[in-house]
Amino acid sequence: MTFDLRDHEFMARAIRLAWKGLCTTDPNPRVGCVLAKSGEIVGEGWHRKAGEPHAERLAIASAGERTRGATAYVTLEPCCHHGKTPPCTEALLEAGVSRVIAAMDDPNPLVAGKGLEILAEQSVEVASGLLRSDAERLNPGFIKRMTTGLPWVRCKLAMSLDGRTAMASGESVWITGADARRDVQRLRARSSAVVTGIGTVLADDPSLNVRLALEQLPGVEAADDLRQPLRVVLDSGLRIPEGARLLSLEGPVQIFHSRGDADKIRRLQDAGIAVVQLEGGLDLPEVMQALAKQEINEVLIEAGPTLAGAALQAGIVDELIIYMAPHLMGHKARGLFHLPGLEKMADRVELQVQDIRKVGRDLRMVATMGATVIR
Ligand code: NAP
Repeated sequence: MTFDLRDHEFMARAIRLAWKGLCTTDPNPRVGCVLAKSGEIVGEGWHRKAGEPHAERLAIASAGERTRGATAYVTLEPCCHHGKTPPCTEALLEAGVSRVIAAMDDPNPLVAGKGLEILAEQSVEVASGLLRSDAERLNPGFIKRMTTGLPWVRCKLAMSLDGRTAMASGESVWITGADARRDVQRLRARSSAVVTGIGTVLADDPSLNVRLALEQLPGVEAADDLRQPLRVVLDSGLRIPEGARLLSLEGPVQIFHSRGDADKIRRLQDAGIAVVQLEGGLDLPEVMQALAKQEINEVLIEAGPTLAGAALQAGIVDELIIYMAPHLMGHKARGLFHLPGLEKMADRVELQVQDIRKVGRDLRMVATMGATVIR
């Protein structure tokens, strides 16, 4: 099937609709759908929340009888399995669409091409791949989890222009200005989990939650829609103070440890905190696998140089987000990454800059490791 200008326009609209679910669909993918007939949009919808109707069903409901003979533009192949809601392939067939164009196949092995196959068997014209790379950018975490069993990992750090993240004393609040900090709030709001190291908890006593006003978060209309990310602390010896701020705030917390004291584990669990023990130390790929098994799609690491460096060296980081503040903190201040064993120029960690822009008075750079460009 060849795609014309109208096809591109309608799929671009479906992708814009899908972005409305940025902060709310987790663990489901962000999906948008447009129904068009004779060059006009007759219905549209986007998936808002897991358990609520999928984009296709909402678009069909808004188009009503006009769905018959229409083309459905969907940012992700329609599902064909019974999950929390019945399959969208059934809904599209019942409503009588004549064409279904997907931006990409569903990476979920339960679907993976079968959705479009089922539709084609019932004489619906199908195609996939229109604006695929734009659709992939909607769901880097869902795609990576479905295809590799690991989440998409962003590592965010704030530094001075001379690459420093804390004074020698450990003092680091605040390096960046209010706009950059708001930007980080939005990053948290789209993330399934925010991960930090015990070093940061002991130094800064951070909250790691989303505190932005609802109207500043895409698709969040009511307090009920606000989903706090899972806050994760990596703490081998379970040194976390029981009065730590992040333990007292609303929203789930999980602590990974390897040799914590049994009484402390019990007390934390009694307080509703999930405590996970990994034998023989906190291997970062193992931690990421454990998070993916809990349907964590996108991880945001907000840690100091020790954990951030270890995450880079373990190869779990997909994307670095560095905020650069226009000031100098001097040579005694602490660096960005602790990277032991890096001695020669040949050992350098290569990055690809994907984006750089001004956020308030600061600069934000997004870089990926290796050749991946999805964002
Ligand atoms: P960190 O990186 O947050 O935490 C490091 C600790 O995490 C380790 O000492 C280790 O303690 C634990 N950990 C558990 N599993 C690990 C693993 N697999 N690999 C590495 N570490 C693991 O803290 P930090 O390096 O001490 O840095 C703290 C400083 O960074 C503070 O001054 C804070 O203000 C600053 N900070 C700056 C920024 C920024 O963006 N500028 C952000 C956050 C923090 P155990 O061995 O006890 O488990």
